[in-house]
Amino acid sequence: MPLNEFPRLKIAVSDCLRGTHCRYNGGHAQDDFINKDLAKYADFFPFCPEAAVLGTPRETIRLVGTLENIRVFAPKSGTDVTMGILDYTEKTVPKLLAQNLDGAVVKSGSPSCGLERIKVYNPSGQWHAFKDPMMAGVFTAKLKAMAPHLAVEEEGRLHDAWLRENFVIQAFTSARWREFLQGDLTLASFQAFHRDHKYLFMSKHVEIYREMGALVATTRQSNLRESVVGYQGKLFDLLAYRSKRGNVKMVLDHIYGYFKGFLSSDEKAHYHESVQEFVNGIVPLIAIIKVLEQYLNAYGSDYLATQVFFKPYPADLGLRSKIAAYR
Ligand code: SF4
Repeated sequence: MPLNEFPRLKIAVSDCLRGTHCRYNGGHAQDDFINKDLAKYADFFPFCPEAAVLGTPRETIRLVGTLENIRVFAPKSGTDVTMGILDYTEKTVPKLLAQNLDGAVVKSGSPSCGLERIKVYNPSGQWHAFKDPMMAGVFTAKLKAMAPHLAVEEEGRLHDAWLRENFVIQAFTSARWREFLQGDLTLASFQAFHRDHKYLFMSKHVEIYREMGALVATTRQSNLRESVVGYQGKLFDLLAYRSKRGNVKMVLDHIYGYFKGFLSSDEKAHYHESVQEFVNGIVPLIAIIKVLEQYLNAYGSDYLATQVFFKPYPADLGLRSKIAAYR
C-alpha cells in the first residue's frame, strides 16, 4: 500500500460518544476527536448495553459485590439488572469482534463501558473510597478479555496526546495487518510487510522487533502460515508498547545514517541540534521528520521510501505536531 494511502479503520465505540442520546438521562457524550477526526478514517460499530437492556431514560446503575462476584444493580429501585447486561454483553462482544476490529473507544466512568477505575460498591450500597475494588465496566471487561490485543481507550484518556498517538498507531497498524492477511499471502508479501514497518516497529520495542525479524528470516513457503500466526502474536505484543522519545531518537538517528555521507557539516549540526530539541521536548517529532524527508527527496533511498514510520497514519490527524505526543 502506498505511504499516502491508509486502510479504513474498524472501530467499536460507545454509542453515546457518537452523539446518540442514549445516556441514562437522555443526553449524549459527543466527542470531537471521534466524530470530527477519527470519523474521516473509520467505520464505527456502536454499542450501548444500558439503552438496549433498560431503555432511555433510565435510572443509573452501579457495580456491586466483589471482583469475584460482580452484580449490576439499579440502587434507586433495588433492581438487579445483571442478567440483562451480561446477556447483551455475551451476545454483542462476539458480534463486534467478528468484524475484525482495529480498536475501540469506550465511555469513561460507566459501569458498562468504562475501561478502568469503575467503582465496585458494597452490597450495602456504600463505597469506602480507595479501599474498595475498582475495575473495568462489565462490557469493556468482556471485550478486553476476549481480545486482549485490541487497542481500547476511553475518550477522556484520548485527550492525552501521548495516549492518542499510540492508540492511533496501534489501530492503523492493526488495520494494515488485517488488510495484509486479507490479501494474497506469499513469502514475499510477508517479508515486505516486515521490511516496510522496520523503523516503526523499532520505535516501539527493539527486542520484539528483532524477534519478529528472526521469525521472518526463518520462514519458508512450507511454514509460512505457521510463521504468520507467531508473527501476529509478537506484533500485537509490540503494538501494546507506547513509544518513548529515546526509542524514536534511535530510529531517527538510524535514518539519518543513510544520508550523513551527503551532508555538509552545517547540515549535520542542524540535524543533531534539532533531534536534541525533540528529545528535550522543545520541538515536535514532525519537525525532525520533515528534515529527514527533505534528505530523502534530495538523495533518495528505495529502502526508506516505503518505510511506514514516515507516515503511520494520516498527517491531518496532526498528532506528530504535538510535543506532548512523546514522553
Ligand atoms: S456509557 Fe455505554 S452504556 Fe452508557 S450511554 Fe454510553 S454507550 Fe450506553
